[in-house]
Amino acid sequence: MAVQIATRPQDPDTVAIWDRVYQGVLDWRARQDSEHPHVVPSASATASCVKQNVYAGRRTPRSNEVPVQSIIKMEGGVLMESFWYDVLAMAGFDVTQHPEEIEYEAGIPDKIPGTPDGLLMGDSMVLELKNLGVWGYANFVQKGLKEAEYGYYAQVQSYMHSHGMPRAVLIAGMADSSAMKWIWMKIKKQDEPPPPFWIEIVDYDPTAFKQAQESARTVDYFVTNKDIPMTNVPKIWHEGAILDPALVAADGKMPCGYCGWAELCIGGK
Ligand code: SF4
Repeated sequence: MAVQIATRPQDPDTVAIWDRVYQGVLDWRARQDSEHPHVVPSASATASCVKQNVYAGRRTPRSNEVPVQSIIKMEGGVLMESFWYDVLAMAGFDVTQHPEEIEYEAGIPDKIPGTPDGLLMGDSMVLELKNLGVWGYANFVQKGLKEAEYGYYAQVQSYMHSHGMPRAVLIAGMADSSAMKWIWMKIKKQDEPPPPFWIEIVDYDPTAFKQAQESARTVDYFVTNKDIPMTNVPKIWHEGAILDPALVAADGKMPCGYCGWAELCIGGK
């Protein structure tokens, strides 16, 4: 069946290959979803919308597919991890890659499921690696992790709590260095090019962890009690902000503009 795409090559031979590759990316994603279903709640999504988490936790089929370009970008970030492990080893760090996974426990009595990218053993720090887009990278450098990327801040708080480590180090590269240089110098009006990568050490923040844990417990409650209709699940994210999905999605903004269940949610389902 031909793939319906607004913008793609015109030459029939190229289109034939293009369509197969496009479908291949979608199939790859579907296989990932079935072989490695995302655990809900998880440390990586405690700052995401509660209702979005519950859709995922109840395994509700998405009403809005993940865009192919997002699938490619996300996988690019995963593939970068092995590069950073090599770099860190060459720089003399003792890295435990993907330490033991924190398993789900009903009600989230203490730890939130998930696993960090690594532990820096001699330094007793959680290690987290990211490959950021242009705006995320610029904001991270200029504003720091908590303000720029609160979801990642909450994520490393969960890991620090689970592994009993007082600090985390987040290393971020840029997903597109050319676009980044242009944004940095032309839009951000900086005199020098952007830093080639950025590092921040984050301290354990018990208040942020408690918030993440509360969110995870709320998600767990609604995922476990499947008879509660989705219309009763709160649309909350980022420290208690209440979402109006129709308004947020209409502006194409986070999180509703990128939500895999936006159509269902706006439709009152
Ligand atoms: S559309 Fe918005 S409010 Fe609804 S589930 Fe998605 S992120 Fe949450």
